[in-house]
Formats: sequence, structure tokens, C-alpha cells
Amino acid sequence: MGILRMANLLETLREIQQTRLELSDVKEQIKRMPLQLRAKQNEVDKLKAAIAAEKEVAKKMRVEADSRELTLKQAESRIKDLKGKLNQAESNKEYQVIQDEIKRISGENDVLQDEILERITQEEEKRAEIKVSEGQLAEVEADFAKFKEVVDYRTDKIKTQQEILTKKLAELEPQLGDVLGDYQRITAVKGDHGIAECVNGSCQNCFREQPPQIWQELLVGRPVKCPSCGALLFK
Ligand SMILES: [Zn+2]
Repeated sequence: MGILRMANLLETLREIQQTRLELSDVKEQIKRMPLQLRAKQNEVDKLKAAIAAEKEVAKKMRVEADSRELTLKQAESRIKDLKGKLNQAESNKEYQVIQDEIKRISGENDVLQDEILERITQEEEKRAEIKVSEGQLAEVEADFAKFKEVVDYRTDKIKTQQEILTKKLAELEPQLGDVLGDYQRITAVKGDHGIAECVNGSCQNCFREQPPQIWQELLVGRPVKCPSCGALLFK
């Protein structure tokens, strides 16, 4: 193998490493995209859950008001009956008993009416809160839709970049010729750390100083492995 050809090999290794690092960065970005979307989606979901809970409370207040309304109606018709019996009372004592019963039920009805009013008020307050929350939800959803559009656009762009880099790497790797086998074995295990630049005599993967013979090999353009970490060195 000629010196020029070997020097080109080191240049190819440098280009390969650069491409691999760019590709790793691009893959990392693609991985992060859905996470950003999920964070926004969680905001939407949280608000939806809060609204559902508020609606549940409003519904409960309505149900409780309705059931008390029913009890109240029954009690009122009972009072009507009792008032009819009052006229037919055959003794003062009986009259008094009926009168007391009417008084007792009326007292209960006052409590019921207060409770109904209280629940109707609470329901109205909840409905007002729900309206505010629904307004917020609409905003958050619109925000999410816009954000998703941006993320989708960026993802498309990054994926195109990934395709370009993958293609470039596929073109560069066969140029390694004899070194290709070593390169494939090392990068299969070490990934991007399988290739490293040698700067001022030190491997940039493990930062160990290289023995002079390694440096000599590199000087004549021969790819060699770092004796410490096994990375394929270039300079
Ligand atoms: Zn090393």
C-alpha cells in the first residue's frame, strides 16, 4: 500500500468519525422530540382530568340537591295531610300531637331548603370554574397543536439529515479497504469510541500517551489501534 493511499485512509477515518458523531447527535435529537411533545401532552391531559373532576363535583351537588328536593316535596305533602287531620282531631291532646308533628317536619324542611340552596350555589360556582378551565384547555390545546406542527417539521428535517449522513457513512466505510474489518469489529463493540484522533501523541478516547512506534505508524499514514483502549487511531 502506498503512502498516499494510507494517508487517505487516516483522512477517511477522520471523516467517518465526524459523520458518526453527527449521526449520533441527530439520532439523539430524534429520540428527544417525542419527549418534548409528551411533556406538552401531559399538560393537556392534566387539565382535562381536572375538568372531569370539577364536572363530577358539580354533578354530585346537583344529585344531592335533587334528592333533597324530592324529600322536601314528600314532606310538604305530609304536612298538607296533617293539616287536614288537624280539623278532624277528636281531642286537644290529639290536636297537639298533630301540631307538634307539623312543627317538627317544618323544622326539617327548613334545614332541607338551606342544604338545597347551598348545593345549588356550589354547583353554580363549579360550573363557572369549569368554564374558566375549559377556556384554558382550549388555549393549551391550540398551543400543543402549534408545538406539534413545529416538532413534526423539525423531525422531518432531522430525519432527512439522518438519511444523508447514513448514506455518506455507507459510502465512506468501504473506502477503508483492508482496515474495514477491524473498523467494523471495533465499532460494533465500542460504537463511536471505536475510532479516536491522536493529538500530541495521546489517544483522544482514553487520553493515554501513545508509545513512539504508534506515533511513527501514524506519521507515515498507517492506521493503528491504541494499545490501551483498542480504538482505531487517526491523526
Ligand atoms: Zn485509547
